[in-house]
Amino acid sequence: MTMPVRDMLKEKGISPSYTRQKIYEFLAASTDHPTADDIYRALIRELPTLSKTTVYNVIKLLCEHDLVKPVNMSSSEMRYEVWHEPHSHFRCTVCGTIYDIPPIIPRYDAKRLEGFIIKDEEVNLSGICPICQQESTT
Ligand SMILES: [Zn+2]
Ligand SMILES: [Zn+2]
Repeated sequence: MTMPVRDMLKEKGISPSYTRQKIYEFLAASTDHPTADDIYRALIRELPTLSKTTVYNVIKLLCEHDLVKPVNMSSSEMRYEVWHEPHSHFRCTVCGTIYDIPPIIPRYDAKRLEGFIIKDEEVNLSGICPICQQESTT
């Protein structure tokens, strides 16, 4: 059921330029929630005319059409991922990796939140990942 990126962009009303396709494809293939800078550095060889501004603009466009989602993990730089099944994030404070983890449903008392409209229920965890725990014991 995977649709070619070209058609997916078109369906959202985005003209599927080569650069836009490449940036989306790169994000879809990454599991490590890259920053705009990571995307730029990964694609500059293949797209020598690419500028950072273009990367930012394309990301903004893809986010506006709900194809890409910003991942804000209180690190200095915004990271991105393509929309996929609901999940939460775990940031390792040692190696900085952001992991996708099964979704964590936040618990709150709706009565105490009267008057607020909730639109996002994201739970982000941080701590030490299994790899870093292993490294510290060896
Ligand atoms: Zn780690
Ligand atoms: Zn994620």
